[in-house]
Amino acid sequence: MKITLVHGDLTEQHADALVNAANSSLLGGGGVDGAIHRKGGPEILAECRRLRASHYGRGLATGHAVATTAGRLHARWVIHTVGPVHSTEEDRSPLLASCYRESLRVADELGARTVAFPAISTGVYRWPMDDAARIAVEAVRSTQTAVEEVRFVLFDERAYAAFAEWVGNL
Ligand code: ADP
Repeated sequence: MKITLVHGDLTEQHADALVNAANSSLLGGGGVDGAIHRKGGPEILAECRRLRASHYGRGLATGHAVATTAGRLHARWVIHTVGPVHSTEEDRSPLLASCYRESLRVADELGARTVAFPAISTGVYRWPMDDAARIAVEAVRSTQTAVEEVRFVLFDERAYAAFAEWVGNL
């Protein structure tokens, strides 16, 4: 599996699956989540509501992942995962690593070969970018998967630089 880095907007990407930094309600939010629902259209939210009405009555747990249609996005699926809120009292890095591993597991179940990720938890959930980049790259590298390309899509220069450093170093 190869890791690629792109400076840009996740919702503009062409890939088999785009990963959404969702929240546990699955019913939309800001950041990546808001952009995905805005650009992807109402079909995605409709499927999220059906998930809430069936298997995910209490929402999606932190570190887990579930797929829906990608609506009007240039992808076949959106894989929703819930990152942990960063904490200085508690080490939640296993949960952040789990977001990447579980998303790749769901991608394998779907047969997705190209998967684009944002920098999960580094926005509203306040994870320091450098540490988040290390966890992301380590988690992806250590996961057995049939996915051929993992693309990290970084919104700004700072995020791109942090990921580039770890992709180069690990
Ligand atoms: P979380 O709640 O997991 O922290 P956010 O969506 O708030 O998720 O932010 C995660 C990261 O994604 C942040 O670094 C943010 O700058 C970035 N981001 C926000 N919108 C986009 C987008 N459209 N494409 C790629 N990255 C984005």
